[in-house]
Amino acid sequence: MVEHSVSLSASLGLLLMVFFSCFGMVSVREGERRAARVFFMAAMVGAGPLLLSALLPTPFPVIALSGCALLGVIVLFRCLFPIRRLTDPGGRATRRVDERDIMFARGRLRPGSPEFDAYYLQRPENLAGDNRTRSLPGLLSPEAEKAEPLAFAAADAGFRITEALRDAVDGPVAELQQHSMPEAWTRRLKELARRWGAVDVGVASLEPEHIYTPIGRGTGGWGNEVTLDHHWAIAFTVEMDHREVAHAPEAPVVAESARQYVESAKIAVHLASVIRDQGWPARAHIDGNYRVIAPLVARAAGLGEIGRMGLLMTPRLGPRVRIGVVTTDLPLLPDPPGEDLTVLDFCSICSKCADNCPVGAIPDGDRIVMERGRRWVIDDETCYRYWNVIGTDCATCMKVCPYSHPDNPIHNLVRKAIRVGPGTRNLMLWMDDVVYGRKP
Ligand code: SF4
Ligand code: SF4
Repeated sequence: MVEHSVSLSASLGLLLMVFFSCFGMVSVREGERRAARVFFMAAMVGAGPLLLSALLPTPFPVIALSGCALLGVIVLFRCLFPIRRLTDPGGRATRRVDERDIMFARGRLRPGSPEFDAYYLQRPENLAGDNRTRSLPGLLSPEAEKAEPLAFAAADAGFRITEALRDAVDGPVAELQQHSMPEAWTRRLKELARRWGAVDVGVASLEPEHIYTPIGRGTGGWGNEVTLDHHWAIAFTVEMDHREVAHAPEAPVVAESARQYVESAKIAVHLASVIRDQGWPARAHIDGNYRVIAPLVARAAGLGEIGRMGLLMTPRLGPRVRIGVVTTDLPLLPDPPGEDLTVLDFCSICSKCADNCPVGAIPDGDRIVMERGRRWVIDDETCYRYWNVIGTDCATCMKVCPYSHPDNPIHNLVRKAIRVGPGTRNLMLWMDDVVYGRKP
């Protein structure tokens, strides 16, 4: 045992050094300087004593190995026997949302317009706060705090492309209707969406609570009831570039948001057009012209769970995505919903987004029970007002979320560990805080 301890100590030391150095190199490639420093330091501190003890006489190798074993047992014990109970799932949305109440719809109301008068007659409690927001520089304004001419121009160009696509979300349906099995339609349409750039695609049965009503923005007439009677929804995600999101809340992040809104709009409009050509009605739902609440549809389609910050948390990219939806009557095969207790459980201990939100718009407590199920409710008024101060869509919460790290084997290993149990979730959160900082 004693003679083996020397080689065991050296091998373990080398293994640890390679292990932490790999993490360090990945961090360098990702531009995460603090993480790289922590990992290279861990490679030295973790492997150093073991390698050194291998050069020293007995009993040093045995002592070093015993220390490692003790540490391993403590970590294993904490992972296998957590002190917390698992979060319960809570409820699901059951009530339809008036799109006129969402901040993007309210932000478009112009004083003196019939819509403005009609809305604040109905919701006088929102007038003072919304007027305060209207008095601020505004999104992409040159007077905004984070104004950066080129990035703002790039974002503006992106939003204008999406706007140009708003009238293309629907169109005439071919007279000749093609028929196939739901499995085959689903497989082929998912393949098309992926080929055009979607990261993940799912199908849900469209439920009344997924659909806004009345209309608050986009085509169709403000205040009109939504008459969407499609049976199925195809939801997909596109990735927001990690390096651009890392700039949040500075201007590059809004340029990236606009770029990905264009990408998701292109895929949705393209897909809906293909379906209509097969003789089935289909409508694309794109930025500024939704009839559905995209995160709820995406969750029902199995793409993820809704986290503390109110965004869809996807298994591979966390909240670092934009969502596109196509609704249709073409017979499809639904996916199981994205109910993920591990996300809810991790969010309940994490609160990193809440700690880093510059205006405290994300709750740091437990989920609250409300008519639309049990959930965290962000203060969207305060969040949107901040956007109008800085001129970008902020996205600090998206940037700091431990799920937002790039989709690579190392981060995926951490994501897998998060799914194992409450103990590993505690450990992964602690590691994320140490490596990236509580306030990155
Ligand atoms: S930062 Fe933490 S609490 Fe916030 S959404 Fe991400 S995992 Fe959940
Ligand atoms: S986008 Fe910014 S202001 Fe809004 S909730 Fe996230 S961190 Fe807070």
